[in-house]
Amino acid sequence: MNDRIDIKELHWLLTIAQSIDVGVVVFDRDYQVQVWNTFMENRSGVVPSDATQQSFFSLFPEVNQAWFRRKVESVMTLGTPAFTIWEQRPYLVHFKNYQPITGQEDFMYQNTTLFPLRAINNEISHICLVIYDVTDVATHAHQLQGANRQLQLLSSTDRLTGLYNRGHWEESLKNEYARHRRYDSAASLVMFDIDHFKRINDTYGHQAGDHVIQRVADSVREHIRDVDIAGRYGGEEFAVLLPGTPKAGGRVFAERLRKAVEAQEVLHDGQKIRCTISLGVADLSQPTADYKQLIERADQALYSSKGNGRNQVTLDE
Ligand code: GH3
Ligand code: MG
Ligand code: MG
Repeated sequence: MNDRIDIKELHWLLTIAQSIDVGVVVFDRDYQVQVWNTFMENRSGVVPSDATQQSFFSLFPEVNQAWFRRKVESVMTLGTPAFTIWEQRPYLVHFKNYQPITGQEDFMYQNTTLFPLRAINNEISHICLVIYDVTDVATHAHQLQGANRQLQLLSSTDRLTGLYNRGHWEESLKNEYARHRRYDSAASLVMFDIDHFKRINDTYGHQAGDHVIQRVADSVREHIRDVDIAGRYGGEEFAVLLPGTPKAGGRVFAERLRKAVEAQEVLHDGQKIRCTISLGVADLSQPTADYKQLIERADQALYSSKGNGRNQVTLDE
């Protein structure tokens, strides 16, 4: 590079460094600040004459010294740049976020670059830190993540009960079945159907019927563990997958749920509505060709409960 820079050219370069919309800080080997551009002044409120000759760490006490020194030393030693990205470290220095559009973030998300500055004798005497405001990018990424989470939730849950819908529930059962194939883990499947539900609809109306379905779903939620997967299988039919639970445990759960629903009174428009459920339990202890066969066996057991007088639990043999 030409050692003698034209004075006019230098003036231009300084103007550019001052006015670009990124933070520029130059500090020496002792972390004393030498250059502090307008971006830094505007965001920190510290004017260049106050910033220069101060230590970078006294200007930014939030920076982890040990970590930052290691990073800077590697730039000094290797002579190559180093970076931080907002996904891993949301910010290097803490600036408030003033952007009106992306106002929901409290602070400025940043990508940063540290690169070496060489003196005329080619030795690295200074480091330049460039700070990019990437709050817009982070905000959009966060909004997208939020929307995706919401969509995921909407597409996997049943509107009326908040339990998983049939599609999601069957997917879970499929995964559990694959796990069982690999690790020989236990799992029970409990299926149940509300007894004489048509009568409830006919006597109290469809809305009352919906209310009963919701309360039965509440009861399911109260009785399952975190790992259990409960879904609304059809109109007033439900399925609960109990991973890691053999049939005997499945029966205990089913019996508890049956009693809870039987004891429950649903208050709808001043009327007290009661109902019972019939349940079927199957597990993976018997050879099963695929997950659908497990559903069929639990459903068959449920059908036996109906045939034997309802309000009972039947185990698949
Ligand atoms: P069983 O004891 O044999 O199960 O008798 P059931 O009357 O419950 O018979 P079945 O299970 O075949 O009937 C289900 C009825 O539930 C049929 C349908 O009108 C009603 N139903 C299905 N989905 C809903 C729903 O989302 N809300 C309401 N209110 N009713 C529903
Ligand atoms: Mg029914
Ligand atoms: Mg039914």
